[in-house]
Amino acid sequence: MKFVDEYRNPEAASLCAAALEHITTKPWTLMEICGGQTHAIVKFGIDELLPRQIELVHGPGCPVCVTPLEYIEKAIEIASRPDVIFCSFGDMLRVPGISKDLLTVKAEGGDVRIVYSPLDALKIAGENPGKEIVFFAVGFETTAPANAMAVFQAYRTGLRNFSLLVSHVLVPPAMEAILSSPSNRVQGFLAAGHVCAVMGYTEYFPIAERYHVPIVVTGFEPLDILQGVYMCVRQLEEGRWEVENQYSRAVRKEGNLPAQQIIHDVFGVVPRKWRGVGEIPRSGLGLQEKYAEFDAERRFGVADHTMEESTKCISGLILQGVKKPHECEAFAGECTPEHPLGATMVSSEGACAAYYRYRKIKL
Ligand code: SF4
Repeated sequence: MKFVDEYRNPEAASLCAAALEHITTKPWTLMEICGGQTHAIVKFGIDELLPRQIELVHGPGCPVCVTPLEYIEKAIEIASRPDVIFCSFGDMLRVPGISKDLLTVKAEGGDVRIVYSPLDALKIAGENPGKEIVFFAVGFETTAPANAMAVFQAYRTGLRNFSLLVSHVLVPPAMEAILSSPSNRVQGFLAAGHVCAVMGYTEYFPIAERYHVPIVVTGFEPLDILQGVYMCVRQLEEGRWEVENQYSRAVRKEGNLPAQQIIHDVFGVVPRKWRGVGEIPRSGLGLQEKYAEFDAERRFGVADHTMEESTKCISGLILQGVKKPHECEAFAGECTPEHPLGATMVSSEGACAAYYRYRKIKL
């Protein structure tokens, strides 16, 4: 197939669903890792096409959603400074902090700018030598290479008015945390294709082996997801737990080696707190000591800030596949995209936003 609409072909999807029906004999719970996959599932009604025995639960792969509240507060504190130009992807601006969000800081006169790449922020740093330029570096392994490259370029060119507020997270430790939890329901994973395009998928072999779960690297179009579910269910029905690659048009087993190299040069593995989940050991990236001067937390003295999440929002349970968005009492009432209580309603990749956008009327 060549064009995106071919991956959305209804006849092919029906055939795939029928094949899945044919091989399914027991109930199975699968988790799609990525928020992009969650949106495709809810938007195209893929979960409604599956045999009744198969349940899809939504994973932690939405970078905005898992960024802890304390990092939103750190961002707000830094962005409120008159000497700072604070740069971020657009989604982060509406994530609520304790009393306001970054958009409010902007409305109050803070210089908060939406950029599409950390390299845009680097350009702003070059153009504004009298200002401190801070980029909010969130996300998984997918966004880490560009963020690492921005720091590397700043270091190489002597641009010292640039820094990163880093809240990077890693997928494999989160999968292990979900599988180790006493409330775990997940029996198989659809791994995030774009993360594997960078990192490859050899990291998943020990997880599949240790927890006896099939892991299928999966793309983002409806037929990708249906095929990923089929491959996962086939393994479960046959009593296998292997790592398979549905997304072979984009993912190689070893991943993108130059991208991995720049990540490892600039970042080291650190413990990281996940919103609603808590701290997971070795689940994040932080700047290596060599690049410590580009660490905005150190530069602006906000490294020690900690705070508790709201007890009303159950996004932590949603991100672990324990609950669905409509099981939250605040869903579509107290919490809407216009007045979000939690990050899974704000982010374009958040599960609550997906259910609100595509399922609100039915619910
Ligand atoms: S509906 Fe709102 S309050 Fe409930 S889990 Fe989702 S983001 Fe949190």
